[in-house]
Amino acid sequence: MSGEHQLRREIVTIGRALHERGFIAACDGNLSARLDRDRILVTPSGMSKGAMRASDLVIVNMEGRKTRGRREVSSEIGMHLLIYRMRPDVRGIVHAHPRTATGFAAAGLPLNQPLVCEVVIGLGQIPLAPYGTPGTPELAKTLEPLVPQYDAILMANHGVVTYGADLQSAYMKMETVEHFAQIALVTHVLGQQKLIDSADLEKLVAARSKYLGVNSAAPMPVCSPNGNGAASNTSEGRRRKQRSSADLRDSEPVSQLEN
Ligand SMILES: [Zn+2]
Repeated sequence: MSGEHQLRREIVTIGRALHERGFIAACDGNLSARLDRDRILVTPSGMSKGAMRASDLVIVNMEGRKTRGRREVSSEIGMHLLIYRMRPDVRGIVHAHPRTATGFAAAGLPLNQPLVCEVVIGLGQIPLAPYGTPGTPELAKTLEPLVPQYDAILMANHGVVTYGADLQSAYMKMETVEHFAQIALVTHVLGQQKLIDSADLEKLVAARSKYLGVNSAAPMPVCSPNGNGAASNTSEGRRRKQRSSADLRDSEPVSQLEN
């Protein structure tokens, strides 16, 4: 029971942090934590996640049926259950709409370029799931192919979901995604992106195991095989960017970013 008490407090604290940082507005977002094999503690619908009390949270079983709590269960419970079912290692999930990352998701752009070494180590890349209507099974379906490998996913025209071995790590990943989105945006404003080259990406793969708590299975972003994917506004820079964009698993976003 003390575990449950602690998790209720953590959800309340993180809900407040999400609101204070502008990652959610009004009644947006939802959080959950795995209590045990059959029970999930989750935020309620219809209230600000920045103003919750521990007693506002509800408990559902793995079928999504409420077993405890006065309030209505989050409408996105289907997404949470999908992630818990597919990833037994996950014990905490955060869904929010941080401005910059959601801007990328609304522009149809994944955050899949190797621009910052820490992000490459921790998350690999942040893919973009196709649009799915919120609160419907369609939304969970769009995430399904990405959940096994990635710990952070952009949801088209919607927001971001992150998850991890505990709530705190899920929340940290949300901060990392938004911070990285801001950096990626700055490179776009500057009109120049110098991608980490493939040899250095190899070293980052090797470095993953050295970092405590980093156990991402996400594939590394793909860079130009010819070394650095330096991008500039010169014609050579544009040619290089086109090459590296062709090499990216999801090539569309890079060419769009150039415009
Ligand atoms: Zn949402």
